Amino acid sequence: MYRRIINLALSLVILCNICSAEEIKDGNHIVVANRSAGKYVALTFDDGPHPEYTDQILDILEQNGAKATFFIIGKNAEQYPDIVKKEFDAGHEIGNHTYSHPNMTGITIEEAIKEIEKTQDIIFEITGERPKLFRSPGGYYYDELVGAIEGIDCRAVLWSWRQDTRDWKKPSVESIVKTVMSNLQDGDIILFHDYNTKGSPTPEALKILLPALKEKGYSFVTVSELMKIHEKESDGV
Ligand SMILES: [Zn+2]
Repeated sequence: MYRRIINLALSLVILCNICSAEEIKDGNHIVVANRSAGKYVALTFDDGPHPEYTDQILDILEQNGAKATFFIIGKNAEQYPDIVKKEFDAGHEIGNHTYSHPNMTGITIEEAIKEIEKTQDIIFEITGERPKLFRSPGGYYYDELVGAIEGIDCRAVLWSWRQDTRDWKKPSVESIVKTVMSNLQDGDIILFHDYNTKGSPTPEALKILLPALKEKGYSFVTVSELMKIHEKESDGV
C-alpha cells in the first residue's frame, strides 16, 4: 500500500518532473532520456533484487543479448547479494535506489544521504564498484537532494515520459507491451520493476517486448551507456 500511495502521488507529480527534466536537458541534472542516441533504449528495473523475478529477467535479457540497469534497494541487496553479483557479472549496471525505499520528501536531507551512502557501501562490498546512478523512490527529487547525489559522483535518474509501465501494479502483459511500444522514442529510459508480489507480469511482457523492440531496430544499453551515445542531432524534445 505504501508503494501504491507513492506511485499514485507520482503520477500527479511526475508530469512536472519529467517536463522540467526534459527542458533542462542541457543543464542535464536529471536523466530522463537521450534523444540524440538513435535506436537505443535503456531498460531499467527498480526495487530488486527479488529471489524469483530477477533471475527470470536476467535469463530473458541474456537470451536477447540485452544489457539493462537495476536500481536496487540496499536492504534487498543485503538479503540477496548473490543476485546483485550475478547482475553485475553479466554486464548490467547497478544503480542505487536507497536502502529502505523511503518517501524522500518525508525524511530530512541528512536521512536521505544516509540511505544513499549506506546503499553505495553495500553495493561496493558486493561488486567492488560504487554506483554512478541514483533513482529516487517514486521519482521524487528536490534541488538539495540532486546536489547531494552529484556530490557523491552520482547522476540522478528518472525515466522517460510515457515509459512508466506501472508493472508494480500488475496490469496485463498486453497492457505493458502496449505502453512501451505505442509510446516509443529513440533514447527512451523504460521503467519496470523486478520486485513484485506473486504473479508479476513483467517477465512475460519482456519476452514479447525485447524481440519486438529488436525487430524495430533497437538495441538495449545501460543508462550510463545511453548517456554517452550521440548518433543523431538532438531534436530538443
Ligand atoms: Zn522503487
